[in-house]
Amino acid sequence: MIIKKTPEEIDKIAAAGEIHSRAMQLVAGKIAAGVTTGELDESVERFIRSQGAEPSFKGYNGFSGSICASPNSMVVHGIPGAYTLADGDILSVDIGVTLDGWVADAAVTFPVGEVTVEAESLMAVTEASLFDAVDQVQVGGRIGDISHAVQICAEADGFGVVRTLVGHGVGRSMHEDPQIPNFGPAGRGPKLEEGMVLAIEPMITAGAHEVRIAPDGWSIFTVDGSLSAHFEFTVAVTADGPRILTPWHELLGAPQ
Ligand code: MG
Repeated sequence: MIIKKTPEEIDKIAAAGEIHSRAMQLVAGKIAAGVTTGELDESVERFIRSQGAEPSFKGYNGFSGSICASPNSMVVHGIPGAYTLADGDILSVDIGVTLDGWVADAAVTFPVGEVTVEAESLMAVTEASLFDAVDQVQVGGRIGDISHAVQICAEADGFGVVRTLVGHGVGRSMHEDPQIPNFGPAGRGPKLEEGMVLAIEPMITAGAHEVRIAPDGWSIFTVDGSLSAHFEFTVAVTADGPRILTPWHELLGAPQ
């Protein structure tokens, strides 16, 4: 069942999203060779709590971190800890912020120092596919329009679209209906209606699309070891079009 939100409820998610964007800005300022993902996690948790909010991921199904930190061939759901960033890495940082019971969920992939041309391109295309998807968030459209926009953008550049992980509705719960695949035909799936709030999150690989779960039960890797990038927004469907509730792009600047 898709739970639609009132304009007042959407404003509450936006308030969580504002804290979220500032947390992402904090991460952007700390990303450097020699920093551990555990240090990033600690900083984010401290910041989120200082704002009177909670890190949504902490304790979720037993997850130990406040962020998901997924380097290189790890796609998503990395447990922050001892991993030390190195020049040339790319790192997906996914953060959830809960404020007054409402969740904002979004992710950015950051370069660490100088990265390869392939990594640059993968990140740029994944971010572009997210913005293409957001353009499809229009009353009267369908979930499939979002899925299709991601796939067209990513595959045009020869990248792989992860099939087995999807975006989702978000609200009082971090994961609500509908599921939002990053592939598939336009014009299919649930109709987009005013008040829906969607976490759209392309997960794109520089190789094949198959992924595997690591023995830790969380981390998802590409099977072929290729690099993966991940960008995510929480977006509301409004009569005026898409409203991005986690506007990290406004604080982080132009596509990197
Ligand atoms: Mg999500």
